[in-house]
Formats: sequence, C-alpha cells, structure tokens
Amino acid sequence: MKDNHIEIVEKKSVNFIEQIIIGDLEKKKNDGRLQTRFPPEPNGYLHIGHAKAICMDFGVAEKFGGICNLRFDDTNPQKEDTEYVDAIKEDIKWLGFKWGNIYYASDYFQNLWDFAVRLIKEGKAYIDEQTSEQIAAQKGTTTEPGVDSPYRERPIEENLTLFEKMNNGEISEGSMVLRAKIDMAHPNMHFRDPVIYRIINKKHHRTGHKWKAYPMYDFAHGQSDFFEGVTHSICTLEFVPHRSLYDYFIDELKEGKDLEDHRPRQFEFNRLNLTYTVMSKRKLLALVQEHLVNGWDDPRMPTICGLRRRGYSPEAVRKFIDMIGYTKYDALNDFSMLEAAAREDLNKRALRVSAVLNPVKLVVTNYPDGKTEEMEAVNNPERVEDGSHTIIFSRELWIEREDFMENAPKNFFRMVPGKEVRLKNAYIVKCTGCKKDKSGNIEEIYCEYDPESRSGLEGANRKVKGTLHWLSTTHCQPCEVRLYDRLFQIENPSADERDFRELLNPESLKILTNCYIEQFAVMQKENRYLQFQRIGYFTYDKDSTEKHLIFNKTVGLKDSWKPKK
Ligand code: ATP
Ligand code: MG
Repeated sequence: MKDNHIEIVEKKSVNFIEQIIIGDLEKKKNDGRLQTRFPPEPNGYLHIGHAKAICMDFGVAEKFGGICNLRFDDTNPQKEDTEYVDAIKEDIKWLGFKWGNIYYASDYFQNLWDFAVRLIKEGKAYIDEQTSEQIAAQKGTTTEPGVDSPYRERPIEENLTLFEKMNNGEISEGSMVLRAKIDMAHPNMHFRDPVIYRIINKKHHRTGHKWKAYPMYDFAHGQSDFFEGVTHSICTLEFVPHRSLYDYFIDELKEGKDLEDHRPRQFEFNRLNLTYTVMSKRKLLALVQEHLVNGWDDPRMPTICGLRRRGYSPEAVRKFIDMIGYTKYDALNDFSMLEAAAREDLNKRALRVSAVLNPVKLVVTNYPDGKTEEMEAVNNPERVEDGSHTIIFSRELWIEREDFMENAPKNFFRMVPGKEVRLKNAYIVKCTGCKKDKSGNIEEIYCEYDPESRSGLEGANRKVKGTLHWLSTTHCQPCEVRLYDRLFQIENPSADERDFRELLNPESLKILTNCYIEQFAVMQKENRYLQFQRIGYFTYDKDSTEKHLIFNKTVGLKDSWKPKK
C-alpha cells in the first residue's frame, strides 16, 4: 500500500462515481488515498465494454491523483492463458493508460487458503459432497428459505481433512466443494451458504499444478482488493447483489479490527451493451475458435485489437466512452455512436489521399500523351500545418464507375456526356462520351480538359457542381480493400433466443480486389489513419505486403447505414 498525494481536480461535469470519490477524499476516508484496480480475467481479449471499465478505473485514478493497478483475476485455470495476459496489457497501453502495479489474484492463493482454513476452524465453512444440482435445488427462492445441506454440521476436524484432500488430488473434480456457513434463509440468495472453493484439475498459467482447490469469485475479489489496499472497487451493475457478501468477507477477514475508514468499497455502474454485436467473452471466443471471424483482431469484432485493426484511434474509443457516460441503469448503446466518435476523431487526424475502389478508365483526349503534371493536394484541410503533397495528373485516369452516367437525372452532378465536372486538385473537364462493349458495359469514358481551369489558377473558379477524385493509371498502385458491415444482422443478438451463430450477418465482409491508390499513400505506412477522399476512413491492414496492399475501411464519411428490412 503506497501513500499518494491526492489533488482534487475541479471539473465541470463529474459522473456519480467521481462524485462519491470527491466526497470520500474530502472526508479523508482511507487517509485520503485513492486506489482502484482494473481486474480482467485473462480468458479472452479485451473488448469495447472493458474499455468503458478501463476509462473509469484508470480515469478516476488519473483525474484525482490516485493509483490504478492492473489485477489479473486468474482464479479459474480452465480458460486462462498468458496469451491473454499479454494482449490485455498491450490493449490498456494502447488506450493510453498506465497501471501502478501488476497483481495476480493467484498471488493470493495461499492467503485465501489460510483464510478459508480459519473460517473452517471457526465453524464458518464446511465441505459439501452434494452435486451442484442438489445444492442449487436447496437454495430456495426469493420468497422461500433454502434447505440446509446434510453436510452442514460436519465436524470441524473432518472439514479440515477434506479441504486438504480437495487440494492434494485425492478428491475428483466436482465431487466436493467448500461452502461458507452463513444463512440458508437469508433474503439475499448470495448469502445462502455460497460455494467458496471448488476443485479444478487443470494446469494454472502461473502456479502450475500447485493448487487443485480454487477460490470462487466472491471469495477472491473483495479479499484481493483488501490485500492490495484498494479503496474504490468499481465494477458493473450485475455485482450489486454481491456487494453485501463482498463486505461480509472483508468483515471476517479484518478479524475484528476497526477498519471503517480503511476498507475497500464496491461501486457499480452500467455495463456497455452495443447494438449489432455481442460482448460475452464466451461468444467471442466461439467466433474465433469456430473460424466464424478471422481471429480476435478481426476488424468486425468489438475487441480493442479488432477496433485498432479496423483503424480506430484510441482517442476515438475514449471519445465514445465519454459520449455514453456512466449511469446506474443498463442500456443498449447504438453502434452508430461509436462510428460517429470515430468519424469526428478521424476527421482531424486522417491524411487525405485518393483511391478508386471501382475503377473505370477516363481518357482526357486533348491532354498530350506522355505529359504529366504535379498537382498539389492538401493533406488535411482540418490541420493546415499538415501541409500538402503532390499527385500526378496524366492523360489516362481511373475514376469510380459510379461517378459516370450516360443518361443521368438532373441532380447527378458527376460525369455526364456534355456536362462539366472538376477533377479534384486538377482541371475542369467536359465529358464527350464513352465506349461500350457488345453487352453495353462501359469500357472507357472520354473527356476534354480546359487548360485554363487548373486548380489554384486565377479564373479557375468557374462554377461546376461536382468534384471527382481520380488517379493517374500509370502513377498509382493496385490494392485490395476490405469493407465491413455489422457483425450481426439483428440489433440485440444477446437478447435473442436463437443461437448467436445463426444471427451473424453473412455480408459483414466484402473484399474488393481491383482497387487503386495513389503512390503517396503507399509511402505513408507509418501513418495509420487515412481518408480516401469522398469515400471514408481507411487504414493499412497488417496482412499487407510490399506487393499486395490491403486496406480496411474504418467507417464511411457519413452515416449511410440502414437496418436491413
Ligand atoms: P465475461 O463474463 O464475458 O467473461 P467479464 O465481464 O467477466 O466477461 P472480466 O475480464 O471479468 O470480464 O472483466 C473485467 C472488468 O471489466 C470487470 O470489472 C467488468 O465489470 C468489466 N466489464 C466487462 N464487460 C464490461 C462491459 N460490457 N461494460 C463495462 N464493463 C465491463
Ligand atoms: Mg468476470
């Protein structure tokens, strides 16, 4: 336990947890210390829901001069792995937070064991040999008391011997548990002799085969907070019913010492639920293991590494968390809010480049063959200090197929025979026609440019309604572009009765293999954030090679997404 100088920062708006913290600091509770923890179980990768908890746990510590430790809640070796430990650290760092210390709940296995032995000796815990079904059946209901286990009055010596055996391999998994002896008629069901230890015969990622009896969440979490000197143990609302049990075990642990001002306290906020995705690690793991997505960092996943690969900035994720805020009521947040946060952030951050995703050739028939010109393209109109780069203009260009129409309606202000349009950063051109193959597909489009209309020249500003992006066919590179849609077809897959696998959106990934991008963008590999002008925000995918460039679409420029009917 480290002493920290606490400095109360004035802030215009504080959430209800911050209000509690400010109050506690003013009252000099815990000697004016503030210590939080972020306690992930290393059984999967972090997702955007965890980001909400991270922003709270680390955020308040930062804001009020406290400390936030990272604690791996590794009390169940069945699904835990060091791969997850490493990934969790990386994601927290990426989000821009720093932990004080790193702790592992497994560091406290001995202390927890000793505490359990003490409870047994005090007649406050017993070994139950019933099946989990039998134990559940005796729990009672909220209106009816439970039934005592036939093993409830087992002599202390016998309990101690059996507990020892639970841990040394003599007892098989599932055939015995240690239960706290509290009250089978307690109005809070969590007090009806909760199971506090069970046997798991699996190698632990840190303690190997040393332990076979493992503490349950309720017997590990509050105690770990206590051992570390946590002051504010912030978690999500589903733990509200666990809070009194949390306090109960801490009262037992402190052995009559008066700790009133020096004890961890649990506070709860609403967890993040997002539309069109799932947040359960069990389901996310299934998607990965069953190859329904391409790994934890698949850009369609709600994981932090998925969002990173998709091209989100950490600032965008944090902005989103800020936007949704913290309350005491569960809600379902709209995925499009996350996208809006990304758009807002990337608008200021992204380097503007040109890419053509569905190319068709445009020939500027009055532009000399072999001639090229360097046109100036602004890197980011939102940040003048980012400067500009040049893009090469020539006689043969790629433009988007959708930017041409032979017989266009009046409000189509793009490439139309007989009409003028501006090629961005270059000239005004007048479309003169097109060439089609036998089945009527457009093969080439023709236009003539006006040499006086070059961007930046005086007199270049005559009014044309449309501006199109383009690439010189000999000064660009082919690339692959991956477009993403919602991972699930329905708004709230977690609330649906059907298996979540059936609810996946079969069109969540669309791969375009015939795209082009300007040379300059290719040389900007260290710049993760690109805007393909007129299209959206994109980023390099990690699968890219020198020869095969791949870009992921982060989000479109505007919210054009509509639910499928
Ligand atoms: P699962 O039950 O799917 O395994 P979990 O919630 O138990 O996930 P943990 O690794 O135990 O995952 O979570 C670490 C911390 O992150 C906890 O404090 C938990 O409350 C918080 N957290 C997890 N999911 C969310 C969410 N969707 N919104 C906010 N906080 C979350
Ligand atoms: Mg958990």
